[in-house]
Amino acid sequence: MATFFATRLLAWTRDNHRPLPWDNGPRDAYHVWISEVIMQQTRIVQGWDYYLKFIERFPDVGALAGATQEEVLRYWQGLGYYSRARNLHKAAKMVVDELGGVFPHAFEELKKLPGVGDYTAAAIASFAFGLKHPVVDGNVKRVLSRFGGYEGSIDEPSGHKEILALATKLMKGSSPADFNQAIMNFGALVCTPKNPQCTACPLSKKCYAYRNECVDALPVRTKKKTNTLRYLHFLVLSWRGKILLHQRGGKDIWRGLYTPPILETRSTRKPTLKTVTAEVRSLTGTDRFEWTDSSDPVIQVLSHQTLHGRFHHIELLKKPGKAREGFVWVPTRHLDDFPRPKMVVEGGKPE
Ligand code: SF4
Repeated sequence: MATFFATRLLAWTRDNHRPLPWDNGPRDAYHVWISEVIMQQTRIVQGWDYYLKFIERFPDVGALAGATQEEVLRYWQGLGYYSRARNLHKAAKMVVDELGGVFPHAFEELKKLPGVGDYTAAAIASFAFGLKHPVVDGNVKRVLSRFGGYEGSIDEPSGHKEILALATKLMKGSSPADFNQAIMNFGALVCTPKNPQCTACPLSKKCYAYRNECVDALPVRTKKKTNTLRYLHFLVLSWRGKILLHQRGGKDIWRGLYTPPILETRSTRKPTLKTVTAEVRSLTGTDRFEWTDSSDPVIQVLSHQTLHGRFHHIELLKKPGKAREGFVWVPTRHLDDFPRPKMVVEGGKPE
């Protein structure tokens, strides 16, 4: 079965090569790592531009380690999951400060880097070092649970283990990099979540799901995502061409990024004038302002939260006091120097 699978898969991939951002550049651990982490966030087409810009500014691990976290976040702006950008930065520092600038080769050593889990470690180990570690992402789980007839949940650790064991078995005798690339592409293009192309599939002859007419039933998934609704009212306070921004801390979303001060409520309804006045006074020391406009709600869906954001534009009529710790008045022409979440960049433009 292993030979059949790998031979057919690799033959298919020769005729269906999907270019990747690092195809024409260096294929070392650093480039593979950056590319894989970016591509986990987004589709290849969108990630491509991010990757090229990121690599142009941070061409090697030393350049990334030497940058400020703020700059790294700025190059990540719009991709979401900002903890991944923070981890890239931390890991680069670790490689430079503790490992002499050299990426570890061994899978288990790679996993000691911040933010590097099984998937990324396997990608680096196989693509950069040619080691036999199968990558197991959603595409791979789908292909193999159908092909091998795995009927347990792929979301459980036991499911992950089963698929990993099967992938390891099927990979035997093939180039790990070619095999990994091929199976991920195959899952994205042929064995798709809906309407897989079974009748044209080179694996159908031995595919369990196809032969047993249960393609639609596999893979089995059990985890239900709980999704919290949040209502964020951004107070876009302006004073003489400057906007007040807050650098977010704590454990909430957007840590390290800048946003206008946020009032969180239980609905998209405008907060009352009394509430806004109290907040503006607390932030600026004055309650003399004009509330000039409020945007319509904008919605952004994150993995576990759905954000409803509204932007309330408020012009101060009196000079504000000194900004509180964590807050900064920024001239609007310099806003792009501050990493901000996508919702704020798109919805919070000054009038
Ligand atoms: S036959 Fe269908 S279900 Fe089986 S591997 Fe091919 S595309 Fe996927």
